[in-house]
Amino acid sequence: MKTVCEFCKTEYSLDVVPNGPVKCAICGNTWIVHRPQRRNPMLVFIASMCALLAAIVFAVAVLYQYQVKEIRDNPVIAEISAITTDTDENGVQHFLVSGRVMNRSEQIYGVPSLVIVSYDTKGNVISRQRFMPSATLLDAGTDVKFKHKLSVPIDKVEKIAVELETQGK
Ligand SMILES: [Zn+2]
Repeated sequence: MKTVCEFCKTEYSLDVVPNGPVKCAICGNTWIVHRPQRRNPMLVFIASMCALLAAIVFAVAVLYQYQVKEIRDNPVIAEISAITTDTDENGVQHFLVSGRVMNRSEQIYGVPSLVIVSYDTKGNVISRQRFMPSATLLDAGTDVKFKHKLSVPIDKVEKIAVELETQGK
């Protein structure tokens, strides 16, 4: 810690707080060295809470920024909500895939064709079935539901995904 002679302003550096008064080597002035004030625990607490709050606000800001970018990059998305089975006239079971196409932006979008991709147990693509949802235009913030029957029998299919058909890319 540091202490300063109150008379001649000479600075001394001390390892420990002396029990009695100290005497200045330059001017002979004596003074009592006080233990350095500990930081007010309340202030330390408030400072750390402020830092925490700033970190949370920053995290939310980053998250929000990420979401905005994600929506801007993919304004229209498709998702599967349910997969059921359906038996055809020959007694063969097929998967019936339902879901929705969402327009998450603030402008009208044309509804793209959807592709239901089915995979086998090894992750290989069995089929890519393209179809058009019932609506052709999606207003801002709206969605349209779809339901599509897979042509492949269920016993071959391990995983099903839906993709938007990207035009001309
Ligand atoms: Zn002095």
